[in-house]
Amino acid sequence: MDKEWHQNHRLDADASRQERVAWHAVHEEVCHCRPAPKDLAEEIRLYKNAAH
Ligand SMILES: [Zn+2]
Repeated sequence: MDKEWHQNHRLDADASRQERVAWHAVHEEVCHCRPAPKDLAEEIRLYKNAAH
């Protein structure tokens, strides 16, 4: 796992759904310590397809 990335990208327990989607979209690119939740997978795909 990318410890340094995680230290710089903390996901708050009370993060909004959009914040979680954004976090996991980046996370699955840089680190594979755990998979994104299945219920966010489609939103993550859409997020990645959008211009950012
Ligand atoms: Zn990770």
